Amino acid sequence: MIKLDEIKTLDKQDPLHSYRDQFSLPKNTIYLDGNSLGALPTRVKQRVKAVTEQQWGEDLISSWNTHDWVSLPQQVGNKIAPVIGANPGDVICCDSISVNLFKLLSAAVQFNTSRQRNKIISSSDNFPTDLYIAQGLQGLLGSEKCHFVDVEEEQLLSQIDDSVAIVLVTEVNFRSGKRLDIAALTRKAHQHGALIIVDLAHSAGVMPIHLNDWQVDMAVGCTYKYLNGGPGAPAFVYVNRALQGRLQQPIAGWFGHRSPFEFSPHYVADTGIKQFLAGTPSVISMAAVDAALELFADLDLQSVRTKSLQLGSLFDELIEQHGLQDKLQRLSPTEPEQRGSQLSYAFDYAYELCQALIDRGVIADFRAPNYIRFGFAPLYNSFEDIWHAVQAINDVIASEAYKEPRWSKRQAVT
Ligand SMILES: *Cc1c(COP(=O)(O)O)cnc(C)c1O
Repeated sequence: MIKLDEIKTLDKQDPLHSYRDQFSLPKNTIYLDGNSLGALPTRVKQRVKAVTEQQWGEDLISSWNTHDWVSLPQQVGNKIAPVIGANPGDVICCDSISVNLFKLLSAAVQFNTSRQRNKIISSSDNFPTDLYIAQGLQGLLGSEKCHFVDVEEEQLLSQIDDSVAIVLVTEVNFRSGKRLDIAALTRKAHQHGALIIVDLAHSAGVMPIHLNDWQVDMAVGCTYKYLNGGPGAPAFVYVNRALQGRLQQPIAGWFGHRSPFEFSPHYVADTGIKQFLAGTPSVISMAAVDAALELFADLDLQSVRTKSLQLGSLFDELIEQHGLQDKLQRLSPTEPEQRGSQLSYAFDYAYELCQALIDRGVIADFRAPNYIRFGFAPLYNSFEDIWHAVQAINDVIASEAYKEPRWSKRQAVT
């Protein structure tokens, strides 16, 4: 039987406890949705204010030089690099995951034509945009050049053979929270001469990642989930050093040109990671990401992972302690090491449950058709948050408050 006192002790002993003070969180809210939109670091508020009022407002266009706006994509990329186990110079911040995946998949397909392979393989439960981008590319290039195949997630490893050109995989499944073994998938892909592209949307910032050591070829990820860069903040691209200068991405915009300010009528791609830029960076958003990443400068990601697993395990134990495990069916793996930083449960009234919880100040999210997801952000979630959240879940389920008609009205974003 876990008691609130023990949980308060866990918070007191938590080495990450002080990070919570660096976030601006609403009062009386337990935010378990940092896997969808990270909370606001207070330093981001200050930076955005300075960038708009001083840099844009006063210094105007000279800021491209005086405040080095022009290098922000590289500067932010270099701050992301240690978070994902990459070297500086191998990561750049730009665009969205969707657009970046299009660039990388296209470049990988083109790189492969010499090898007579046309197959992109992914799991059918991958995040939809990843699947759509691959399908769209097949539509554009034709299935002779680009043949997209999706398989069950459990089959992914065994389906990698000599017919596969590109493995497209997300480390942590957005729905179930299951974490895949990227090192093993990369080894298998390389044994069969295939390239691997990894989506780090649900892992960057919440667990150690070792792109270099794993020898991953390419990766994308977003900055608005566990990196707390803000809604719609620009994503990132990683390309292994050995491939840089050998790939050609198709959105040949001027920011990817070797010398954009020569304004030449002919495109000459930059030979480094800068080639993966397309157009002008969104300076305000990128400055927000830059400030948010300061929180990661001295952070040990292994301690973040340890706390993430503890928060998840506590949540699951409390669900059992309240006897809720028969009502909420856990979709996430039983073994904590096989999870990302979320727990998902199937419940017939998942949408309504989610709305009733939000009304009680516990913010989780719903994913169709009938899942509720609870995300754990170790930098600002406390163990006590978990206690109160499960208490609220128990209240709503025991009282059947989720059946109130007002909770069933669907909004545009769920
Ligand atoms: C959140 C998420 C995305 C989002 O893509 P955007 O183009 O940045 O909107 C993509 N892939 C995965 C796996 C995600 O979880």
